Amino acid sequence: ASIEDWTRSDVYHNSFLISDDDALAHAQKTSADNGLPAIAVSVAQGKYLNLLVRSIGAKNILEVGTLGGYSTIWLARALPEDGKLITLELSPKHAEVARGNIAYAGLTNKVEIIVGPAAESIKKLQPEPFFDFIFIDADKPGNLTYFLEAKRLVKKGGVIIVDNVVRQGRVADPSYSDANVEGVRKFIGHLKTDSDVDATTIATVGEKGWDGFTYIIRL
Ligand code: SAM
Repeated sequence: ASIEDWTRSDVYHNSFLISDDDALAHAQKTSADNGLPAIAVSVAQGKYLNLLVRSIGAKNILEVGTLGGYSTIWLARALPEDGKLITLELSPKHAEVARGNIAYAGLTNKVEIIVGPAAESIKKLQPEPFFDFIFIDADKPGNLTYFLEAKRLVKKGGVIIVDNVVRQGRVADPSYSDANVEGVRKFIGHLKTDSDVDATTIATVGEKGWDGFTYIIRL
């Protein structure tokens, strides 16, 4: 099977399960119009994150890696009236596009964007209460740092998701190396030794190709 087959399958399933949505379409369009890279989660993955947040009744969410706010909108929409989401983004331009998209989606009152290197921003966070759910999807060399901070910031029983951990199977290919793959390997290698969490990697295929995420619970 190829990316065309996987995309057709995503489109097929989405056609029954996910309605057309003005705010999400707007976020995709303004992100593309402003030259942001096409590296947001897929439609089905966004919905998956939304369902996950609702399943665990999360009220406080941290996201690392905002881009144009596409995943932010899916996540923030899953929050109850008094829920809050903090999202960390390096690029002022990405943050500006995201701010517009989040406002268009009517979510400004629930979302705070912190602009700057996530490794610095995340170390300053002292949330009260702790986060229920953390989504890590920024630069991959930062994965281990973000994960260790996420562990400090998430409540016991809370969930951490780390995106893009399969990378077309390259992470598991010993003959392949680049900074992103090494960032994932360092993070996965750490998990073997970390008795504070339990985790599994779920591979995915779809319109974004062959990838996957690691699903972690804080013990
Ligand atoms: N979560 C977004 C979505 O699905 O819509 C996609 C995020 S994109 C894969 C990664 C984002 O991380 C980019 O916007 C990039 O600018 C940001 N980023 C890269 N390095 C960063 C860093 N050191 N600190 C914070 N954000 C960073």
